Amino acid sequence: MSMKVIVDLQACQGYACCMMEAPAVFDLDESAGKAILLQETPTDDLRAQVDSAARVCPARAITVENG
Ligand code: SF4
Repeated sequence: MSMKVIVDLQACQGYACCMMEAPAVFDLDESAGKAILLQETPTDDLRAQVDSAARVCPARAITVENG
């Protein structure tokens, strides 16, 4: 099973919690104060990290779709 990650940049407040949880998938554009999605379809070994990033995002800006 694969996954697709979506970041709602309108909702994102740049808290950077996501990059702490899954640094291979999320980075932070510090000047914009928004997340940068490094991988839209991460491999399954990153699923636990991506799920916890979605869980901790204070803005609930991260959606993970299962493909
Ligand atoms: S944790 Fe949420 S609000 Fe914070 S940078 Fe990531 S997507 Fe944006």
